[in-house]
Amino acid sequence: MKKLIQKWIIRLTATFVLMAVLLVVIVLNPALTYASKTRHNNFTIFHNQPLDPALILHLRQATQWVSNSEYYDPHWNIDICLNDGSRYPSFVEKTGGPAFGRGFYNKVVLMGAADYKGNSVMLNGYRWNLQQLLAHEMIHCFQLHQRGVWKSKPLASIPDWKWEGYAEWVSRRTVDQADLRQNTERLLQAEKTAHDGWIQFSDGTGSPVLYYKYRLLVQYCMEIRKMKYDEVLDSEAPQEVVWEQLMNWFDKQ
Ligand SMILES: [Zn+2]
Repeated sequence: MKKLIQKWIIRLTATFVLMAVLLVVIVLNPALTYASKTRHNNFTIFHNQPLDPALILHLRQATQWVSNSEYYDPHWNIDICLNDGSRYPSFVEKTGGPAFGRGFYNKVVLMGAADYKGNSVMLNGYRWNLQQLLAHEMIHCFQLHQRGVWKSKPLASIPDWKWEGYAEWVSRRTVDQADLRQNTERLLQAEKTAHDGWIQFSDGTGSPVLYYKYRLLVQYCMEIRKMKYDEVLDSEAPQEVVWEQLMNWFDKQ
C-alpha cells in the first residue's frame, strides 16, 4: 500500500512538473499559439485577426513616453501579444490571474478586450487607456531587461509602489494627468467619495486608486526631489514617510 502511494506521488509530481514546463515553453514562445506575426520597428506583433492600423499609432505614442525613461533601450525587441482569438492570453492568465495586460521578459500581453479606435482596453466593466497600458507593460519589460531577473520583481523584494508606480509615472503623461498638484487633488477628492477603488479620467478610462497613489509617490520622488529611479529603488524611506513628505509639499502649494 505504502509503495502504491509513493508511486502515485511520483506520477503526480512528474505530471505537475511536465505541465509547468509546458506552460513556460508556451508562454515564452507566442509563435506556437498565434496564426500570424507582423514586424514593426522593434516590435513583433502576434495576432490572429487582421491588424488594426490604429495599433501602430498607439505603439508609437507608447514608445515616445517610454523613451523618456532612464531604463529605455531602443535596441530591445518587444513582442506584442494581442487578445484576438489565440489561447495565449489565457495561458498567461494561468500564471498570474486576470489583468488588463501583463509585461514580462520581452512580452507585452493584452488580456482585456481592446478597442483600438477608442484607445482603451476593457476588463470587468472598467477601461484602461490602451496607449498608457502598452507603455506601462513595456516599462516592466525594461525594468527586467536593465536590472536582471534577480533584481526585479517578483524575485527581488521591491515594494509595489516603487515597481508599479514607476510604470504608471512613465505611462500617464497626457495633459490632464501630468501635474502633480492636480493629481494629488484628484486623489484626495476621490478618497472622500465612494470610489469603488477606481479613479476616472476625462477620456472615460481610469486607474486603480492604489496604483494612482503609487504613481504620485514616484512622481514626487522623481520630479520634486529630483531622484533617479535607481535612487528611488535604493531609498530606505517607507511608503508612509514619502507620502507624508508629499503631503507637506502639497500643503505649501
Ligand atoms: Zn504593472
